[in-house]
Amino acid sequence: MFQKILIANRGEIALRVICAAKDLGIKTVAVYSEADRHSLHVRFADEAVCIGPAKSARSYLDIPSVISAAEITNAEAIHPGYGFLSENDRFAEVCGMSGIKFIGPTPEVTRMMGLKQKARQVMKEAGVPVLPGSPEALTSAEEALDYAAKIGYPVILKAAAGGGGRGMRVVHSAEELPNLLAQAQNEAGAAFTVPDIYLEKYIGAPRHIEFQVLADEHGNVEVLGERECSIQRRHQKLIEEAPSPVMSPQLREETIAALKKALKAIGYRNAGTVEFLMDEQGKLYFIEVNARIQVEHPVTEMITGIDLVKSQIRIAAGERLEDILEGPIRLNGHAIECRINAEHPETFAPCPGKITGLNLPGGIGVRVDTAVYTDGVIPPYYDSLVAKLIVHGRDRTEAIARMKRALDMFVVEGIYTSIPLQRKIMDDEDFASGNFDTTFIARKLASIQKH
Ligand code: ADP
Repeated sequence: MFQKILIANRGEIALRVICAAKDLGIKTVAVYSEADRHSLHVRFADEAVCIGPAKSARSYLDIPSVISAAEITNAEAIHPGYGFLSENDRFAEVCGMSGIKFIGPTPEVTRMMGLKQKARQVMKEAGVPVLPGSPEALTSAEEALDYAAKIGYPVILKAAAGGGGRGMRVVHSAEELPNLLAQAQNEAGAAFTVPDIYLEKYIGAPRHIEFQVLADEHGNVEVLGERECSIQRRHQKLIEEAPSPVMSPQLREETIAALKKALKAIGYRNAGTVEFLMDEQGKLYFIEVNARIQVEHPVTEMITGIDLVKSQIRIAAGERLEDILEGPIRLNGHAIECRINAEHPETFAPCPGKITGLNLPGGIGVRVDTAVYTDGVIPPYYDSLVAKLIVHGRDRTEAIARMKRALDMFVVEGIYTSIPLQRKIMDDEDFASGNFDTTFIARKLASIQKH
């Protein structure tokens, strides 16, 4: 096992990795930007290295600075968290060249999974259903029109290297396609290093359902059930839960079997998430692989009892899954996560600032993953996640009741947060009955906000 690891991230996920490392008896090195000098990940790591100014391009995304910090502190491995360098194959490669273990997949697999249309192809070959679409990036509007005509409108244009819902456009007719393609290409070019756009069939009101996987370096793959992530705003997840209220044991088993085969064929290792959309007929279609730990990983931890971050570190140290998991995976009860963001309740614009008062909820079945504290500041430079509130109950009804009381006792003063919105969603009858899809927030927002 490693003696010391570096965490190339900030905020709640950096603290989450520190917790896992402490549980394993591993020393930790935090890196931080000048804006994060007073952050909890700096305080609770064993060592901390300042790697640059607030702007992430010059600190958390600066590969030479992160590698130097690992070298001067003799860290043997780097955990990238999510976001920042977590899906950067070049970073994984430089770690390898510097003799530092990257806690993630190989650079080749990271690269392949980072290009969505490549990942689609690999999954399709392994027998996982994918939506009809263009096999490669689109080279012209004419080509896009041809594919769209074959598939049938509506179609969705998506950035090959996409993330965070950027670079996507829904196209309803041939007339609007060329313009929307140009827009998507511009947006993708500005946001990602690869400007490529591909297209696939658009599902009007899908559910977003994803499967959590763990794979070791010895060719063993396990799937830890699914998460339901359909409560989204502008393609960004707001509430996640496990298991999905609509997943049948049979579909779960079939999907798990197909994924095990596909991921073995790729040579996948590390924790990872395979995302699907479910159409109105209840059929699942692959959309992408996230080759890293995800924001919503705690709901899976709560129903399986498996520490996913500890598992990632043990996998990177060469351990076998059978030793890490100690027996078959059991799904127990129901877990829900609310992402508490610093945002304006009406405009949803990020609202960073100083937290002047704070009460974190607790009690049986409640977990809060956060890096905030009273008088701490949410800086404007990074994402607006304040905390993740996770609850676990024997069943979904108990989990919802616990989420309501935990949200009622969650007090954040000094900034606006999404707590009031989350609380109203918990009261919604369709949410309570499991009757929702990714259009839920857009359809219901006005009526939810009135009550
Ligand atoms: P990103 O990597 O930018 O998050 P994803 O491919 O994961 O993009 O898609 C994010 C969200 O966009 C999905 O959860 C879903 O709400 C919507 N979406 C993506 N592809 C489709 C599609 N083919 N049909 C309908 N909605 C889609």
